[in-house]
Amino acid sequence: MEESGLNFDLLKKCADCGACYDLCPSSLHIEGYDPRAVIKDILAGDFEKWTDSEHIWQCLECHHCVEICFQHYGFENAMTAMRKYATRSGKHPIQVKRGWDMFAKTGRLGEPNLGARKRLNLPEPAESGEEEFKKLFAIYKADKKTGTEEKNES
Ligand code: SF4
Ligand code: SF4
Repeated sequence: MEESGLNFDLLKKCADCGACYDLCPSSLHIEGYDPRAVIKDILAGDFEKWTDSEHIWQCLECHHCVEICFQHYGFENAMTAMRKYATRSGKHPIQVKRGWDMFAKTGRLGEPNLGARKRLNLPEPAESGEEEFKKLFAIYKADKKTGTEEKNES
C-alpha cells in the first residue's frame, strides 16, 4: 500500500480524532462525502474502493481540516493522495485530463471570464501563460538544485 502515498500512521490517529469532519464543507453539504467511512476503509486496506469514487474529487482543498489538525495532516492530504493514485491508475475524470492538456499547452488552467474582466476594468488577458510558467519553473528548478546541493554538503 506504500504506492498509495497515504500516511497510515497519521490516519490511525484520525480514526480516534474526527475533529475536522464536522467543519468540512464537503462533508456537511455533499451526500456520501464521508471522511469517517473513507478512513475506516483505508485502515481496513480497502482504499482502492475510494479511488473509483467521485467523492475523492469533491474535496475543495479549502484547508480547514489542515488548519485545525493537531497532526498538521488534515483529511485533505488523504484525498489528495487518493486522487494522485487514481490519476496514475488512469481513473481520473475526463475533465482532469482536459485541464492538464490545456495547462501543458497554454500555461492556463481555464478560460478567462472576459465579461467579468471588463466589468472590473481589468486589462486584456495574455494569450498564453506559457512565458510566466517557464519563468516559475526555472525558479522552482533553481531552488530545488540549491536545496539538493545544501543537503549534500551537510
Ligand atoms: S480541504 Fe477538503 S477535506 Fe479538508 S475541510 Fe476542505 S473540503 Fe474538507
Ligand atoms: S485529519 Fe487531523 S483533525 Fe482530521 S481527523 Fe485526522 S487527526 Fe483529526
